[in-house]
Amino acid sequence: MGRSIVHSAQLLRPPAVDRVLGWPSVAPLLESYGRQPLLDAVRALLEELRQQARTAEDYGETVVAARLGERLATGQARRLRRVFNLTGTVLHTNLGRAPLPEEAVEAMVNAARYPCALEYDLETGGRGDRDDVVEALLRDLTGAEAATVVNNNAAAVFLLLNTLAMRKEVIVSRGELVEIGGAFRVPDIMSRAGAKLKEVGTTNRTHLRDFEQAINPRTAMLMKVHTSNYAVQGFTASVLEAELAALAHAHQLPAVVDLGSGTLVDLTRWGLPHEPTPQESIASGIDLVSFSGDKLLGGPQAGILAGRADLIRRIKKNPLKRALRVGKLTLAALEAVLRLYRDPDRLGERLTTLRLLSRTEADISAQAQRLLPALQTALASWPVSVSADSTLSQIGSGSLPIDRLPSAALAVRPKKKSGGVLHEIEAAFRGLSVPVIGRINDGALWLDLRCMDDESGFVAQLKSLARKPQVAP
Ligand SMILES: *Cc1c(COP(=O)(O)O)cnc(C)c1O
Repeated sequence: MGRSIVHSAQLLRPPAVDRVLGWPSVAPLLESYGRQPLLDAVRALLEELRQQARTAEDYGETVVAARLGERLATGQARRLRRVFNLTGTVLHTNLGRAPLPEEAVEAMVNAARYPCALEYDLETGGRGDRDDVVEALLRDLTGAEAATVVNNNAAAVFLLLNTLAMRKEVIVSRGELVEIGGAFRVPDIMSRAGAKLKEVGTTNRTHLRDFEQAINPRTAMLMKVHTSNYAVQGFTASVLEAELAALAHAHQLPAVVDLGSGTLVDLTRWGLPHEPTPQESIASGIDLVSFSGDKLLGGPQAGILAGRADLIRRIKKNPLKRALRVGKLTLAALEAVLRLYRDPDRLGERLTTLRLLSRTEADISAQAQRLLPALQTALASWPVSVSADSTLSQIGSGSLPIDRLPSAALAVRPKKKSGGVLHEIEAAFRGLSVPVIGRINDGALWLDLRCMDDESGFVAQLKSLARKPQVAP
């Protein structure tokens, strides 16, 4: 008995690293992954097999080559992977917000691959300013005298406060001291920018006289913040932009607005709720507006400041502008997206975000019916039922928080209430090669199809959902 144990332990000696590298079925791995990654994987796998190997076969060429292949493929998988956003939130911050239109993707690839006229004036052959790439377009689309672009809207707000209100007071309505998901809180940004917040009015009502009474020699500006991610309803009052601008100007102060999302078109044209636009603010006399590039605008992450030329000039001279500036890939994408706005008639088809937001319930519902049989088949081994149900999508990223868009979803419901089968299924969807991200709500996993734009890719990977027989490790 004792002898036979010694005997089998001897038989179970792992192969030498060099021997593994010489096996014919390992050769293709060397070709695809390179020598060093393969060597690291062989060493790590042999170490693992020392604990796990039960039979000589576990150390054989077939098993080892297969496990090496898996190991290298997993290690190679990108962390920043494409996913299916079936959460029902179109501009999902955790999933990268706006998907870019093809025109923008192409512009980015070109800017990435070749040298480009980023800060070079092709007319004079002299040095240019990177903001020139988009400034004329922004002037044209917003009606502002000048514009500049930084990393995101948080940076835009920070930079405008730091430039125009350092060691001075900024008057803001109490009802607009917003916190935008994560770490953007107006009071915090304000203090980090060196400005003093002067709150006026109450949570639900702020009047022009509240602003007027708060103005003093230390006042730098009057500010409005778009309450992006919540709505104050009922007995409310807020100051109109035109009134705020007139009051500011009577005291030789600027009036600025953080629009948050900001879009350059009237969304009601596509049956969507109205969202304030920079051009409306500028036309009301507001001196400076800031908005995001990747919310309703549908472009890359960026923060845009548009308004009076003298204020933009001061902002651009702030040394922090250099720290917050955008790169060429962002500018390439932003330019392409802004160009689409020059042709509003075709914007609904060309701007991805707008196309997704304006999809009709009938269109999405037909898609749900098309995809239903494939998902039912794929989940046949699970104790669940799958149906096509109507649901409500939201715009996301704090845009139009209370409006919902009628949509359709594939809903996966457990046959029995008990057990964590929903979470298991949710994890299985997340584990697909293109992970599918849904939403668990009301005892079901909802796959809202509003953002489903690759039906065949979705269906092709469903077979991997078949429930694996539970085995002991
Ligand atoms: C989203 C938002 C911001 C932050 O914009 P980012 O582009 O995400 O940095 C700032 N202010 C308001 C009102 C917003 O809605």
